[in-house]
Amino acid sequence: MEYTPQDEKLIAERFDGLLAACEKICRSEDDWALIRRAFSVAKEAHKGVRRRSGEPYITHPIAVARICVDEIGLGVKSVVASLLHDVVEDTDLTVEDISRMFTPKIASMVDGLTKISGVFNADTSEQAESFRKMLLTLLDDVRVILIKIADRLHNMRTLGSMPREKQIKITSETLFLFAPLAYRLGLHAIKSELEDLSLKYRFPDQYAEIEGKLEAAKKKRAKVMERFDEPIVAKLRENSVDFEISERIKSVYSVWRKMQSKQISFEEIYDLFAVRIVFKPSPVIPEKTQCWYIYELVTDLYPSRPDRLRDWITFPKPNGYEALHTTVMGPEGLWVEVQIRSERMNDVAERGVAAHWKHREASEDDPAGDERFDAWLGRIRDALSSPTENAVDFLDNFQKSLYTAEIVVFTPKGESRRLQKDATVLDFAYDIHSKLGASAIGAKINHKIESIYTTLKSGDQIEVLTSKSAKPTAEWLDHVVTTKAKQHIKNYLRKSTQGNVERGRALFEARMTELGIAPSARVFRKLLPAYNSPTKDEFYKNLGAGTISLDGLQEILRQNSASKYLKFWTLFQGGGDHSETDTPADELEIAECCIPIPGDDVTGYRDPATGKIIVHKTSCNELTRLASQHGENIVTGIRWSSHKAMSFLSIVSVQGIDRIGILLDLVGVITGELGINIRELKIQSHDGIFEGEISLYVASTSALNDLITKIKKIKGVDKAQRSR
Ligand code: MN
Repeated sequence: MEYTPQDEKLIAERFDGLLAACEKICRSEDDWALIRRAFSVAKEAHKGVRRRSGEPYITHPIAVARICVDEIGLGVKSVVASLLHDVVEDTDLTVEDISRMFTPKIASMVDGLTKISGVFNADTSEQAESFRKMLLTLLDDVRVILIKIADRLHNMRTLGSMPREKQIKITSETLFLFAPLAYRLGLHAIKSELEDLSLKYRFPDQYAEIEGKLEAAKKKRAKVMERFDEPIVAKLRENSVDFEISERIKSVYSVWRKMQSKQISFEEIYDLFAVRIVFKPSPVIPEKTQCWYIYELVTDLYPSRPDRLRDWITFPKPNGYEALHTTVMGPEGLWVEVQIRSERMNDVAERGVAAHWKHREASEDDPAGDERFDAWLGRIRDALSSPTENAVDFLDNFQKSLYTAEIVVFTPKGESRRLQKDATVLDFAYDIHSKLGASAIGAKINHKIESIYTTLKSGDQIEVLTSKSAKPTAEWLDHVVTTKAKQHIKNYLRKSTQGNVERGRALFEARMTELGIAPSARVFRKLLPAYNSPTKDEFYKNLGAGTISLDGLQEILRQNSASKYLKFWTLFQGGGDHSETDTPADELEIAECCIPIPGDDVTGYRDPATGKIIVHKTSCNELTRLASQHGENIVTGIRWSSHKAMSFLSIVSVQGIDRIGILLDLVGVITGELGINIRELKIQSHDGIFEGEISLYVASTSALNDLITKIKKIKGVDKAQRSR
């Protein structure tokens, strides 16, 4: 157990190495003294203990401290906390001891580090919950998370001496949490190394194979890459750009992941190579302008793929990454990605958050940098602080949110907001404020009225339209992607569910009294299928929540049998006018994507899985997609039976100027039409505009068209059309 003289020599060497690295961060004698004291306290505390590799334990905290300085760019306090990071967990020293010997700040950092490591020894759900709490408290000091990442990196680098099942556990945590966290914190090099190491221990054979192939590709392409660089170097020099150029090759892990996700072979990956140009900015021209200038010089030499241009300068990545990327065609038909960055951008790309801090301290005259950093921190805090019922869900969502792509959209005042890709108007509204989200009824996207469910695109400008009477419904959950919106809606629904049942029952009973009908079992047998509600409670709940309305109630009750609503169509498949050869095709099904009704031109698609023929409108996009891929499954010759008078469900969307009485006119026109019954009427009205969807049963397209023509004639109606 006792350390040998060789051990002591090794420890001294490693510590000297750390001291040398600290030259660039120590500013005073006190700084040096603090680091030496932390070292001797830690060394004494871990005395006689060895790592699994056999090295004295203290070599681990030294290595972690070194990573903090060299690879992350942290300062003196972090070095001290790194040296002490395992002391409280593994030895008799307490946080109070540290506080007394050092400072309360350092003690709280060590405390944080001790707690996180406890997290990874608990079971999954407990682990998830503690992890969330931990990250939340640690956000006040991101350095603690950074040190924890350095700790994990060193453990990954020395994973070889661990038993197999430990390797699996540690690599899983690394891939699931630490790599995404490192990515989000902008530690690109560390993220990439964590992934590569995880792969190496998880799938050693595949790792070795890809590594070998990358080596070979590098050798084979060395000449080509040289030829690629030469003209760029000459051109940039000629234009007096001060720069460095280096060649990059994809990491083993990213090659592996691409092969997995796209199911392709190594040889099919075309973007293995990249060239990075890092320039020293001229003091008089803005960095951004210089990036585009270099871009122009490069694309003058090589043709670029316009679809591969990535402008991370105007809108940096969520993790703060800034650069201009383009992919150009090099010699011998080789696609090469060119990355253009200033020295500052490069620093941020390599060292993430820590570099932000450095630049933040260094230049008081860059308030933009400050804002970016604060915004970044704010987003992480948001992701963490949303209340969640299930800790494991949280972990999953958080992990996802670390990697998710983003879009940038604008408020009416031109302020930019970042949202997850596929975010909708509702996500946007909730992102601004939960009250705005909860009262949203529509939006003007680029000055055009759209529904709250509309998916946003980068560059959209959105004005949320609200109404005091609007409230979240369960359906909203299907139309949001952000954790924030989901949480607010869920909370609202949870709080209001019981109230909804009561409210719904009261509404229903009041209406029935009005109509003079007693709510019998027979009534419910008709109502529940018509309102798609499996139980009475469900019906009340939906009614109370406002997802269904009673506008069509009378019509539904007037029907002889609810079964009419279950069977909307009959289709015949056969040889045209030889009606005696027509056979009712039981295996026919109406396509849900386009819902054809009698009179529509239809085409069938035989589902290879079930053998059923799904009937689409011939103009349906989904049918087109299917036909382009599996033309052999297309079934023609399907036509509607003309001798059965039946009702078909259709949806008409209406939009117009709100005025008193318009709803009455609308209902009047519809119910006045022969053979048309309203199933559901959804109308939203706001700021003098109303929008609605009417689900109704019609006998044919011609009846529907007649109805639409009549609706359009109503004063104030601007637009009426069959939707879907
Ligand atoms: Mn450790």
